[in-house]
Amino acid sequence: MQFFKLLDKLADLAVKVGVNLQPGQTLVLRSNTESRILARKIVERAYAAGAKRVIVDWSDEYVSRAGFLNMAEETLKDIPQHVVERSRYYVAEEACFISISSPMPGLNKDLDPKKVQIAARAAQEKLAFLREYTMGNQSQWTIISAANKVWARKVFPELRPREAINALWDAIFKASRVIVETDPVEEWNNHNKELKQHADKLNELNFKKLHFKNSLGTDLTVGLVENHIWVAGGEKAANGIYFNPNIPTEEAFTMPHKMMTEGKVVATKPLHYGGKLIEDFWLRFEGGKVVEFDAEKEKETLANILSFDDNASYIGEIALISHDSPISNTNILFYNTLFDENASCHMALGRAYPMNIKDGIGAPIASLVEKGYNDSMVHVDFMFGSSDMEISGITQDDEEIKVFENGNFII
Ligand code: ZN
Ligand code: ZN
Repeated sequence: MQFFKLLDKLADLAVKVGVNLQPGQTLVLRSNTESRILARKIVERAYAAGAKRVIVDWSDEYVSRAGFLNMAEETLKDIPQHVVERSRYYVAEEACFISISSPMPGLNKDLDPKKVQIAARAAQEKLAFLREYTMGNQSQWTIISAANKVWARKVFPELRPREAINALWDAIFKASRVIVETDPVEEWNNHNKELKQHADKLNELNFKKLHFKNSLGTDLTVGLVENHIWVAGGEKAANGIYFNPNIPTEEAFTMPHKMMTEGKVVATKPLHYGGKLIEDFWLRFEGGKVVEFDAEKEKETLANILSFDDNASYIGEIALISHDSPISNTNILFYNTLFDENASCHMALGRAYPMNIKDGIGAPIASLVEKGYNDSMVHVDFMFGSSDMEISGITQDDEEIKVFENGNFII
C-alpha cells in the first residue's frame, strides 16, 4: 500500500537525513503514543542503519493531562531524580535525538495554564544540561511529524475522520518532500543546496539590522548581533556530523541582538502553546523587550510565555521565508509550529541558537550573552510573514538594500 511505502520513506528520512545516525550510535526517540506507527518504523530503520541501541521515550497526552488535572503543584514541581539520571545517561552516551511532533490542539484547553507553566519551568531548570546538549548542537537532533485523529480534525474540520487523517498524512509527506517516485534523501540534498543560496547571500551582505513593514501594522526593526551567521537547512554538530534539525524546513534564520528590536509586530498565524491557541495578537518592543501586547484569544497564555523567565520577553531568532513556499502554498493552517513557521517569516521569544554567531557552538553561554545572545528557558516561535511583507536590510555602511518585496525574497 502506498501509505506504508511513504511511511517507510519518512522514517528513513528521519534516520538518514534528520539525525544522520552513525553506525554504533545510540538513538533516543521521543514519541507520544499517537505516533507509534511512525515510531516503530523509525526504530526499525535506525537499527537497519547500524544503531547501537534505540531508546524510546514514550509519552501519552491523556496520561499527561490526567497528571495536570490531579497532581498538586508541589508534585508537578518535583522532577523525579530518575528522569534527570536518564537524561545524563543520554548525554554520556553521546546519543542523537529524534522527536516526533504530533500535537493534539484543543485537548488541554481547559487546563490551568499556571500549572502547565510550573511543570514546564521545573523540567527546564532540572534538565538545562540536556537543552544545552541538543540546542547547542553537541550532537545531532531532529524533529519530524506524525498525524493523529485530534490534530487531523482540527486541520480538516470539514472532512470525515478517516479522510481527515489521510489528508493530514498526505500534507505531512508532501511538506517533508516524501513522494513515491523519488528518493527523499536525494530530494533533501538538492533542497539544502537551494536553501543555502539565500543564507550565503545574507551572510555576504552582513546586515546591521532588518526593517519589516506590511499593511497589517507590522513596522519593526531588528538589530543583528555582530558576526551573526544565517543558517538554512542542514548543519554540522560539534561532533562533526551533518544533520537536519527540522523536517520540513524552508527558513533562513539568524541571531538578533537581544537589546535591539524596536517597534510593533503583528502575528499572522495563531500560536499553539501548552494546549492553547493564542489568536490575533501583536507585540510592541522597546530596547529589545516586549513592553506592550494584546491578543483576541488566550492573552493570559501569551502573558505566561512572556513572563516564563527574565528573558522570555526578548527575542532569540529571526527567520526569513518566502511567502511563495511549498508549505505556504498548501494554504493549510497546521496548528503546529514545525509546519506553520515554515510558511511564514517568524521570530522566537526566548533563547537564541549558539550556531547563529561565529564560534558560538560550544562557547560559554556567559561570553555569548555579552555579544547580545538571549539566554532563556523558552524558545517560542510565532509567525508574522504576509503576502505584502517588505523587508530591507541596513548594511554596516548604512546603505539600505531591499531583501523582500511582496512577501518574497528578491536577493
Ligand atoms: Zn525558525
Ligand atoms: Zn525557532
